[in-house]
Formats: sequence, structure tokens, C-alpha cells
Amino acid sequence: MKIHEYQGKEILRDFGIPVPRGQACFSVDEAVAAAEGLGGPVWVVKAQIHAGGRGKGGGVKVAKSPDEVRQFAQQILGMQLVTHQTGPAGQTVRRLLIEEGARIAREFYLGMVVDRAAQRVALIASSEGGMEIEEVAKHSPEKIHTVRIDPQAGLGEAEAASVVKAIGIPSAAVAEAVAVLQGLYRAFVEKDAMLAEINPLVLTADDRIIALDAKFNFDSNALYRHPEIVAMRDLDEEDPAEIEASKFDLSYISLEGDIGCLVNGAGLAMATMDIIKLYGGSPANFLDVGGGATTEKVTEAFKLMLKNPHLKAILVNIFGGIMKCDVIAEGVVAAARQVSLNVPLVVRLEGTNVDLGKQILADSGLPIISANDMADAAEKVVAAAREVK
Ligand code: ADP
Ligand code: MG
Repeated sequence: MKIHEYQGKEILRDFGIPVPRGQACFSVDEAVAAAEGLGGPVWVVKAQIHAGGRGKGGGVKVAKSPDEVRQFAQQILGMQLVTHQTGPAGQTVRRLLIEEGARIAREFYLGMVVDRAAQRVALIASSEGGMEIEEVAKHSPEKIHTVRIDPQAGLGEAEAASVVKAIGIPSAAVAEAVAVLQGLYRAFVEKDAMLAEINPLVLTADDRIIALDAKFNFDSNALYRHPEIVAMRDLDEEDPAEIEASKFDLSYISLEGDIGCLVNGAGLAMATMDIIKLYGGSPANFLDVGGGATTEKVTEAFKLMLKNPHLKAILVNIFGGIMKCDVIAEGVVAAARQVSLNVPLVVRLEGTNVDLGKQILADSGLPIISANDMADAAEKVVAAAREVK
């Protein structure tokens, strides 16, 4: 689960990391009042969306007067902000952060992610802040310093100091920067984050260290123990289809293709997407209906997929293990009737009572294309999608 920059900065502040004074605003008047309350001479008007790259997209503006704050707030609030992380449609800006302008001497990058292979939290730091870390990794990998933190020992002072020095933070600011690294690590662990990023972490003209941006992504499996983070959720920033899916306990992720997938089991769902690609198609979604796929769940899953205007065909790929194929087939038939299906439907069933299941599909009178195995199913659904214009 993602949160906004201003919420991320509240967490940073709680863990002792210096951030600019600022205020979240929902209207232009609020923004001007916030600027007057903060006092000048320089303010930054920042679009709050769950995506990075806002600066380049025109979502971060430096204002030199309350009038300019008004002007930029008017410009940014309600705009459709397009960044490299939003996709071409962009994201509507509904909130702003008005904060004091920092006097930046240098910008650094600081990030933490879970390194699954190392089974540790990886601390990543670079002298090249402000820009995309992927670009730095590509063009000057030697400027990226990574430390995999021992979970028992935590991030020690010496270890943090060596990173801080490696990225070129001057000695006058080393102690402060070490505290920032340690604070971020504590925040990461205590809040069950999957990603935490301060880009840029800046050195000011008077050798202070400040976090000018804050990005967090939390492990949704751990949210049950963080009501304070759940309270920060902003549904406007999330995909409506995914919100709808979560109400029915379906694991659904929207993708860019045109072939809907309804599968039981996350592994089989991944394999289904792969084989669709292998046959030259492109999946419209990831969808795992789970082990106990009831007719109601299958129906909701169909409704979700059919809401996608790009959808051209659906592939149902079910392995009946605990669930029996005849029960699944009944569910698919009932669901297809209820939603008045208007795209080709390919069904591949395997497992317990498979013959009975196939019979039910055949007897339903619905134009269901039956497939024998995954390759057959993928080939058929890709062909069916191609015929739909
Ligand atoms: P994004 O990463 O989405 O582009 P940032 O919060 O990193 O957004 O802002 C982009 C750039 O704007 C920063 O790299 C920094 O140079 C500048 N900036 C952001 N906040 C401030 C601030 N409070 N004072 C001065 N400059 C800022
Ligand atoms: Mg940034």
C-alpha cells in the first residue's frame, strides 16, 4: 500500500528525520493560507499523487510570493499529472503539499527495499540524488552504494557512517546523515515497509540534512497491525477495479493487454499470463479467484473483467483440486449467463470430475470454446482475441 509524500514525511518526522515544515491542502485558498502561516520567502507547491517524477511533469513549483503560491496551486490542483510512473493517462491531482523552500547545496539519493535473495533490507545510497535511481544504475553503477543490513544487529553507526562518507556527505553533516539512515531503517522495520525512499535527501547551504521527498510502500499483509497506516489510504489513487476486487476477496491487478484471465491459484495465474504472451497475446489482468471459487466470486470476477473497455476475450484456466471441475463449470455457466457475456470465452479445466465439468459447459448452450491443456487454451484465446476488432 502506498501513501502520499506528506504522509510519508509525517512518518519520517516521527523517526527523527528532518523534513521541511509544510501542510497538506485540498483547495487553493487553503494553500495560500498555509503559505502565509508558514512564512516566506520561498514556498514549494507540490502535487500529491502516488507516483514519482512529479517535478519533471510540472507537479512541483517553487513560489516566491503568496500570489505565486495561489497561481501554482490553481494550476496544479485538478490537473491531470503525467509522469513516467503514472502511464499516459496520468493521475488527477486532488491534494497539494505546501512547504517551505529549502536552500539546496547538494542532492543525494537514499532508499531501502527488501532484498529477497539476501533476506535482508538493502540500503541504497547515491551521490546522484534528484534523478531516477534506475538511470544512475544504468549509466554510473559505481555511484550506487548498497549495504544489506543484518536484521539481528540493525544498522550500526559505523556501517551507516561508511555509506554516508562514500556518497560524499561532508564531515560537518555526517552525524546528522547517520541519524537519518538509522531513523529510516527503524521506520522501515517498525512500519513493515517494502520500500522507503528519500529522493532527494539534501545537504543545505548551512550543512544541514533534510528529506525533501518521501515515498513509502507498505506490505499489505502486515497492515492488520498498522491501523495508523491504513488510515492514510487514499482510494482516489487506487485502481477502481482493484478496490472492487478486494471487496470480494479476489486478487486482481489491472494490466495493459486485452485478454482477461480468470484463474485459481497465484502460480497458475502467473503461468497463464506467461503462456498468453508466449502465443503472442497480452493479458488484461492478473486474477486469482482463490481456492474456494464460489459462483458469486466467479460472477464478480467476470463483471470486473468486462468493465475493461479493451477486453477482447477471456480465458478461464482452472485446476480442480479441492474444488471440483463440475462445481467450477456450473459457476462459469451461471456467471456467463448473468453478465451477458459479449466476448469469446475459452475454458480450460483440469482435475477432479473434469469430464463432468466439460459436459456441463457443452450442455450450457453458451458459445464457450473448450480447451484441453494450457497451450491449447492460450492458442485459442489469442486467436479469438485477434478476430475481435
Ligand atoms: P518528484 O520526485 O516526484 O519529482 P520531489 O519531491 O523529489 O518530487 O521534487 C522534485 C524536485 O523539486 C526535488 O528534486 C528538489 O530539487 C525540488 N524540491 C522539492 N521540494 C523542495 C523544497 N521543499 N525546497 C526546495 N526544493 C524542493
Ligand atoms: Mg523525488
